[in-house]
This record gives sequence, C-alpha cells and structure tokens, in this order.
Amino acid sequence: MKVTPAWREWGRTALGLLYPGICPVCRTEVFPKGAPGRFCRNCRQEIVRIRPPFCRICCEPFPGEITSSFVCPRCSGWKYSFDFAVSPALSRGPVRETIHRFKYGSDITLRRPLARLMRSALLDPRLKGVPWLLVPVPLHPRRERERQFNQSVELARSLASLTGLRWLPALKRILFTESQAGLEREKRLQNLKGAFAIHRPVKDREILLIDDVFTTGATAEECARVLKRDGGARRVAVLTAARG
Ligand SMILES: [Zn+2]
Ligand SMILES: [Zn+2]
Repeated sequence: MKVTPAWREWGRTALGLLYPGICPVCRTEVFPKGAPGRFCRNCRQEIVRIRPPFCRICCEPFPGEITSSFVCPRCSGWKYSFDFAVSPALSRGPVRETIHRFKYGSDITLRRPLARLMRSALLDPRLKGVPWLLVPVPLHPRRERERQFNQSVELARSLASLTGLRWLPALKRILFTESQAGLEREKRLQNLKGAFAIHRPVKDREILLIDDVFTTGATAEECARVLKRDGGARRVAVLTAARG
C-alpha cells in the first residue's frame, strides 16, 4: 500500500489517541490527548494576529490609532475583482513555519492548526452569517504531483469540516506558471493571465476563495476575476491562513 499524506495523517491521529498531541512547530507535548495539530501555549503566543486597524480591502495592518475603516495606499486607486481579503495572522514565526512545512514538507496534518486559525478569522463581521461557498485556489496538475496534494484544497476541506460550510473545486488551472515568489504585483498579474478557468458552476454564489498566503493579491485577483466574469459569482471574498 502506498503511504499517502492522508494515510500518514490517519496514522498520526490514531497515535494521538494513545499519546499526547505534539505542537506542530516546537514538537513539545500538547494536552489533552488525542488533540493532534494544536499549537502549544508558547507558540500560540508568538502568532502575530492581525487586529484592527487594517486595510478594509487587503487586510494590511496599520500600526496606528485609526478608528474608522481605511484603505491602505497600495489599494487606493486600484480596482480589485475580489470584494475584500481577510487573514487571521501575519506570515511570521510559528505560522510561517507551519505553512512552509505543510506546503513544501508535504505534512498534511498541518492543515488542521491552519484551518483552526482560519476559522478564527470568520469572526470578522463582514464574513459572519453568510453561507460562503469555499473555493480553493487550484494548482496545476504538474505542481500538485510534485507536492502530493494541493494545500488550498486541504485547507478548504478542513475548514469546511470545522464550520459546516460547503467547499467546491470551482476553478481549475489551465496554465503552468513558474514560481511567483519575488515578483511584483504587475508582473505576477501578467503571468497569471489566462491561468485559471471555471471548473464547476458558481452562478450567483457568494464565494470565499481559500489560499495559504496572501502576498501581493495577484492570485486572488485573477481567480476572482474569472469567478465573476466567467462564472457569474455574486461576491468573492478571500480568506488565507496568513498575510505575507
Ligand atoms: Zn510549540
Ligand atoms: Zn490594502
């Protein structure tokens, strides 16, 4: 039998019933028993949470005393296809490390602590009480083979089971693009043109696009554009585990 990441997770969950949980970052024991993938107290304290005030479009936190809602300099004068983006934390310390190990280390068990973190962002008043359809950012099949799974699908699936919201692989990736890391937003947008297409119908749906990290917003922008223009989605908000 091939040991897939899902089987490995099942094995660890089964072990978790016998042994205490292990913090995914520092590997210390976490109680209660059978609670796999919870951050320990120390690591939890090091998570840099995004709290108001932050940009009401891209969620960029602002270290000041603004009480009214505001738009950051990068977002003003820019018309996005998505309505707004939300992240529970900055991509620093334990969150950054967890995402990195999840994505490049193929440790699928890490979807749980990340999905729990994402669930905390659903307390945003703009997200509350809406029957969002969770739509993961698709990977090109070639990239998915390399990584063994699509991290966004796993996050959407895990968040769906935590919240009761539905998820749907409504987008597919039809173009292979090289890594976007280190590129500026305009260059990223250019690279991503024509990369996504509708895979399942989303007409009039309220969509919460799911991804691991929001960096320049170019991926979210291109996905939202396709979901609205080609799919007829009514709204597209974005939820990522972290903000770069
Ligand atoms: Zn820890
Ligand atoms: Zn902004």
